[in-house]
Amino acid sequence: VNRLGLVLITIAFCFFTGSVNAQRERTELEFPDIPGYVTLKCEFHMHTVFSDGSVWPPVRVDEAWREGYDAISITDHLEYLPHRHDMVLTNFNRSYELAKGTARSLDLLLVRAAELTRGEPPGHWNLLFLKDANAIPTKDYREALRAARKQEAFVFWNHPGWKQPNRKSKWYDEQQEAFTNGWLHGIEIVNGSEYDPIAHQWCLDKKLTMVGNSDLHGPSAQEYGPATGKRRPVTLVFAKEKSLGSLKEALFSRRTAVCANNFIYGEKKYLHPLFDQWIEVKTPSLTIRPKGRALLQVHNDGELDLVLASNGQVDGVGFPETITLSAGKTVALDLRRTEAALEPGTRLELPYSVQNMKIAPDHALSVRIGFVLARPGKN
Ligand SMILES: [Zn+2]
Ligand SMILES: [Zn+2]
Repeated sequence: VNRLGLVLITIAFCFFTGSVNAQRERTELEFPDIPGYVTLKCEFHMHTVFSDGSVWPPVRVDEAWREGYDAISITDHLEYLPHRHDMVLTNFNRSYELAKGTARSLDLLLVRAAELTRGEPPGHWNLLFLKDANAIPTKDYREALRAARKQEAFVFWNHPGWKQPNRKSKWYDEQQEAFTNGWLHGIEIVNGSEYDPIAHQWCLDKKLTMVGNSDLHGPSAQEYGPATGKRRPVTLVFAKEKSLGSLKEALFSRRTAVCANNFIYGEKKYLHPLFDQWIEVKTPSLTIRPKGRALLQVHNDGELDLVLASNGQVDGVGFPETITLSAGKTVALDLRRTEAALEPGTRLELPYSVQNMKIAPDHALSVRIGFVLARPGKN
């Protein structure tokens, strides 16, 4: 190859790698649909240069798509605008408008939203599904919440413990008033890496919707992902279909769960089917001779490593007290048969509680891992 040839090859190579770098890639979040619902992976709290964030709005959409999300809302502050000396900030719909085209081309649902930002109380509130963010008055927060209600917005209270002593969330008269008036529909039980058990319990007691969000200000990759070892929060929304209308209906109907820091929080009726979708017993029929041993193979197809602790006994069979079902792996559980009286064909169910699937702050999800005792020589 002569010199010109080398130059041409180099140029061709640069073009080739250039086009590879330009390829967009999405890492799917392994939260499957549950019976009756599409599981939408969502994030409802992040900022851009249009308030105190450092990224341009379409970047938020691109990041979210790459990280496996189906729906997001950009929630720039209505009041706190530190970039106002660098940019003309008069249109509170602008971040949504700029991000909309990218969202459409990536088939990601983008919710028009804003963050109402007050001292505590009443604190910070995210207003989702706004029709016009400019029509939210910013002087009197009650007027703002009233206007959001008029626009049929879904409103949640952000990071309730943020400014409280010891981060202990407090339910103020202002919250009670908003709750009574139907202005408040959900609470952040996770903000960034912080889980709030008090807010979690409020959602259960007061029938409010649980959400968990990043509250990102800088680029997502700086705070989350493989390089940091930190998981970006996900609000799972169990919707009738993937559309903005269904997303909104599901949020008002409290069909959510929150995944953050390798935990998942939600009601049993959503966590149980999710566990069932994730876990598969690979050896559903197993021979264990009297006084013998066998390995029960259990596969976890989900997004999280699940940590299980036994919460009961099974007559005639001993099984591990604690197990970790690693995401994407099959684990072989060591079983011991202690009793000869078990009939072949008996279905056995190993009782466990999943330590990192929480149906209440102090309550882990109870599950059963079942198999049938086979006739010797059958498997
Ligand atoms: Zn805030
Ligand atoms: Zn915020």
